[in-house]
Amino acid sequence: MTELSGGTALPQERRVVTAIPGPRSRELMTRKQAAVAAGVGTVMPVFAARAGGGVLEDVDGNSFIDLGSGIAVTSVGNSAEAVVRRAAAQLELFTHTCVMVTPYEGYVEVCEELAKLTPGDHAKRSALFNSGAEAVENAVKIARSYTGRQAVVVFDHGYHGRTNLTMALTAKNMPYKQGFGPFAPEVYRVPVAYPFRWPTGPEHCAEEAAAQAIDQISKQVGARNVAAIVIEPLLGEGGFIEPARGFLPRIAEFARDNGIVFVADEIQSGFCRTGRWFACEDEGIVPDLITTAKGIAGGLPLAAVTGRAEIMDAVHSGGLGGTYGGNPVACAAALGAIETMRELDLNAKARRIEEVMKPRLEKMAQRHGVIGEVRGRGAMIAVELVRPGTKEPDPEATAAVARHCHQAGVLVLTTGTYGNVVRFLPPLVIGEDLLNEGLDVVEEALANLG
Ligand SMILES: *Cc1c(COP(=O)(O)O)cnc(C)c1O
Repeated sequence: MTELSGGTALPQERRVVTAIPGPRSRELMTRKQAAVAAGVGTVMPVFAARAGGGVLEDVDGNSFIDLGSGIAVTSVGNSAEAVVRRAAAQLELFTHTCVMVTPYEGYVEVCEELAKLTPGDHAKRSALFNSGAEAVENAVKIARSYTGRQAVVVFDHGYHGRTNLTMALTAKNMPYKQGFGPFAPEVYRVPVAYPFRWPTGPEHCAEEAAAQAIDQISKQVGARNVAAIVIEPLLGEGGFIEPARGFLPRIAEFARDNGIVFVADEIQSGFCRTGRWFACEDEGIVPDLITTAKGIAGGLPLAAVTGRAEIMDAVHSGGLGGTYGGNPVACAAALGAIETMRELDLNAKARRIEEVMKPRLEKMAQRHGVIGEVRGRGAMIAVELVRPGTKEPDPEATAAVARHCHQAGVLVLTTGTYGNVVRFLPPLVIGEDLLNEGLDVVEEALANLG
């Protein structure tokens, strides 16, 4: 396994040699508190020293099994060989020109790859940015420019970022929006097909949720005022919600019938994460625009909007851009990450991770009533925790499970509108032994809840 990842010398093992956090991390945490804004929170108070493959080593010599990938970013592993090789070569040549001043081949090559990898064989164009939120903002700008309309429709439990427009698009108040208003206008939120929490049960969820969403759009907004419908094909921060099958195609069809730009936000679910290049492929959806970031460049900041040529090209020259968007080093890293995804067939790896994780988590669900549901696809898997016998969210148990895992040397993340979802986003190159060991610790954590 080590030869698949950078940090190649890094032993692929869980190792806890100090209290968590250790003394060196505690020292650094004191400096952090004195120098870094309090609003920049931290999930696990240990400082990273090195990372690679399926592990992250801290400054005290503890080695954590990484089931988070820095929030679905280091899918190819940290410091992956091809990412380091290509980014380092680019660093030697030039670090920046600004593509709006002097373009370079790497930018074009990433856009060519995006055209090949995203669903649909129509003519496509891409524009590159620095962060996911920036990509989503630009998708909205493009859709508005193309349609001459203003309204944007988003969904319950949706997450699209933390900038002003994307805060408006994001559903959850705490911690993303509290105190940061006023938010951008012309944003409308409609129901999503969340099977586990659909009032009449999962069977009719897709149909009923789509009907409600379409009714609200038609009656409250007016379909002809809508520039874009923006949705995550597998909702990330909302709690790894898989919209009931049939919901997405129905919404995409409604968009098509009404001249609305259908935008798939695949920033978390894209680039092999769910066992396909993009999660929307599972239902044969061909989005008009697709936003990508996170997994795209092995950890370097890069994001993209990719879509139909006639929509993308509707914007006047100079209307899209930014000083750093599509930085040459980030582009080289992306080409290295994509090379790695192809060569190691990381889609197959993601599907294998699902095969290992889901049966084990489902077995845990039978033993522990606190698990209300196991869901997700590929290496984007979650458990939603509830008070046993009910669907009442249990954020305390969720925090306790995460804490136990952290103390035992396993990095897990929590998520969800109700803060009651433990999510697993391992690097796709993680070794199977390590993955199983991580799950052993999760099981221990559940047993420990009493
Ligand atoms: C993370 C995320 C974003 C925002 O990306 P940033 O790079 O943090 O700005 C947008 N949409 C989805 C679905 C995300 O998961």
